[in-house]
Amino acid sequence: MFETVIGLEVHVQLNTKTKLFCSCPTSFNHKQNTNTCPTCLALPGALPVLNKEVLHKAIMLGTAIDATINRTSFFDRKSYFYPDSPSAFQITQLYTPIVEHGKLEIDFEDASHKIIRINRAHIEADAGKNIHDGDISKVDLNRAGTPLLEIVSEPDMRSAEEAILYLKKLHSIIRYLDIGDANMQEGSFRVDVNVSIRPKGDTKLYTRVEIKNINSFKFIQKAIELEVARQIEAWEDGVYSEEICQETRLFDQTKQETRSMRGKEEAADYRYFPEPDLLKAVVTDEMMEIYSKIPELPDEKRDRFVKEYGMNEYNAGVLTATVEMARFFETMMLEGISAKNAITWLTVELQGRLKGEINITNSPVDALKLGQLVKRIEDNTISGKAAKEVLDRLMEENLDIDGVIDALGLRQVSDTGALEAICDTIIAANPDKVAEYKGGKDKLFGFFVGQVMKESKGSGNPQAINEILKAKLG
Ligand code: ADP
Ligand code: MG
Ligand code: ZN
Repeated sequence: MFETVIGLEVHVQLNTKTKLFCSCPTSFNHKQNTNTCPTCLALPGALPVLNKEVLHKAIMLGTAIDATINRTSFFDRKSYFYPDSPSAFQITQLYTPIVEHGKLEIDFEDASHKIIRINRAHIEADAGKNIHDGDISKVDLNRAGTPLLEIVSEPDMRSAEEAILYLKKLHSIIRYLDIGDANMQEGSFRVDVNVSIRPKGDTKLYTRVEIKNINSFKFIQKAIELEVARQIEAWEDGVYSEEICQETRLFDQTKQETRSMRGKEEAADYRYFPEPDLLKAVVTDEMMEIYSKIPELPDEKRDRFVKEYGMNEYNAGVLTATVEMARFFETMMLEGISAKNAITWLTVELQGRLKGEINITNSPVDALKLGQLVKRIEDNTISGKAAKEVLDRLMEENLDIDGVIDALGLRQVSDTGALEAICDTIIAANPDKVAEYKGGKDKLFGFFVGQVMKESKGSGNPQAINEILKAKLG
């Protein structure tokens, strides 16, 4: 009876070498207030100069989401006082952003898709950081002036699930493009969620509540669910118009509730006006040509995997969901192994052994090594069962694969001479079974294979054993 309406604003910290309007480095592990200069400290007389690398990354994003790139965009001042912003304004792009009218496709589990429109992506400067230390508060301006790209969706999402799918896709695209590290815990991918409800069938937008800076997908999902429940309850209790107002709320993860932080400002409160110290940002034909070259994106890669390797959409989706996963798989494939084996050994065997903080980006067994291991199965050096033992050992220590195979005595005997000798021994030791088999008891074949396998201590290549026994038993 109610429909949820969600629009998302995502602040992505761009991984440029230097800040947006000065040449201070953007790295954060420095002593407080050392990556600063008159411009990012907002000292009187210091003038900002736009960093072209920021335009480059914004255009890459714009290209990836099929957006219009405005060849001329402008900067505006958003005025507000806050201790971590010494200029008392933020430089942003309100009226003409660099990127407008994009879209992004989200994929549901049942393989259906939906387009989420993106209203705009604009460039803006980050603030510094307030550090609260007992009853003293300090300001660190190392981050002040770091470039952000704020990506604003249309209110097109209809459930928490859709919002999460959108965010994960956007996150993945940013990592594929390598325009930011998009680390949610460290604040380089910050999400503001706008939520409202309306009676199903109604097309008008109702009052939205904004929930700010939630730092994990799980919490975003929870915050939306709680907020929707709060709004529906107010509606059903007949107090919607009194209780639901346009405001900014916080998600409290320990109390599991959203809580009012402040009333929502109107644009007019910020006294926006065109930034007088900066020129307009012009994208030339030449810049456009260079900056709009982007690497293969997750959806294209997924479709290519389906075609090229004949895998199903589900597996292709899993392998391309993150750029790290896709790279891992593609590196394994350099060993010339089958995609089917690569998928199993990556998603089942390796991932099944990764725990806690260890994931494929810091896995003790890297992609080339895992590819080699699969190769050893495919060229019959070891059995699949033996490969699991080898992998266990490699997870503990970074050793040479062949060394481990030999040390564990797992090399398969495909040497027919040696296997034939074992087969002869087994046949000679079991004359009654041989007679029964020859008399028509086909099932006994398995018995002979098992005996030979046992005698070879599991190292016999099963295919070779089968062939030899068939020949010898007739
Ligand atoms: P502000 O910067 O003031 O938050 P923006 O226009 O930049 O405003 O962002 C508004 C965000 O809220 C957009 O993502 C938009 O899709 C979303 N939004 C607007 N109206 C609603 C609504 N009624 N319900 C849910 N989301 C909304
Ligand atoms: Mg907002
Ligand atoms: Zn600076």
